[in-house]
Amino acid sequence: MGSLRKVYHAVGGRVAGRLGLKRTPFLPTSIDVEPIDTCNFACDHCQVTHWTRKTTRLTTERFVSILRQLPMLRQIKLQGMGEPLLNSHLIEILEEGEMGGMPSSLRRTATSSPAVK
Ligand code: SF4
Repeated sequence: MGSLRKVYHAVGGRVAGRLGLKRTPFLPTSIDVEPIDTCNFACDHCQVTHWTRKTTRLTTERFVSILRQLPMLRQIKLQGMGEPLLNSHLIEILEEGEMGGMPSSLRRTATSSPAVK
């Protein structure tokens, strides 16, 4: 099934390219979602440290909305800039993904667990 899906999307991507479509007519099967855009560290080389904008957190409602919009979805990576465990909705988000049969992986900063805000 996995290889059939790969072929379907590879062919779809080529057809979309030949037709000059800017967007592929196929829905993604895998996405990255950023749980939060802040970190418990302040590494000087990192852009997160220097952002002045207000912190945004993925809400459970927004996550469920994403799941509903993408019925072809088979995998979600919860990652991005910052430390995912700082999002107080993270457990609910993981539970929602699990209830929807969605394998979710979590990428962290590989540091000790920060306090959830
Ligand atoms: S996201 Fe990574 S690199 Fe950036 S401040 Fe946090 S630990 Fe440092």
